Amino acid sequence: MRCLALNASFEPLTMVPVRRALRLVIDGKAEIVESEGAVVRSERLALPRPAVIRLVKFVHVPRRFRRQVTNTFLFARDNYRCQFCGRTQHELRHRECLTRDHLVPLSRGGTNAWTNVLTACSTCNTRKGNLLPEEAGMHPVRVPHEPHFVHLAWAVRKLTRTQTKYIRLFYGANVLHTLESL
Ligand SMILES: [Zn+2]
Repeated sequence: MRCLALNASFEPLTMVPVRRALRLVIDGKAEIVESEGAVVRSERLALPRPAVIRLVKFVHVPRRFRRQVTNTFLFARDNYRCQFCGRTQHELRHRECLTRDHLVPLSRGGTNAWTNVLTACSTCNTRKGNLLPEEAGMHPVRVPHEPHFVHLAWAVRKLTRTQTKYIRLFYGANVLHTLESL
């Protein structure tokens, strides 16, 4: 089992190994919010096994770090559908696949930010090439947006009931539901 680490603001940050969580608590950098199961003993002290810890000081997490866009989440955000021709993964032909397209191409100063990337089939991606949407006459079905919950999706499936409570507290039940159904 891993421990859910919250920022001082209660924003869920990441999952850490229990040993690392205990180290943070012993060093006074975090407090135990919830514990589950057995007591963990070290040479000098016995502590409840932390399920949720909260950092004592607010840690600024760079957006770039926590919003990193992986294709797994990008395709999930776009419902595994090409945002230009609208076909889903299942409707692609034999040699086609889903790819990451950049609205403003990287070669023209575009970035990998959520608002600049979208799911495109390989055919549409090739057709668009290094053109801007206006130049190619290709406009996405939906304007790409930044899903604020995505960075947590990997973790949620491994959360215990107690830990889940804190995701719901911070993001609301709707986000939790979306995460669990991904
Ligand atoms: Zn397409």
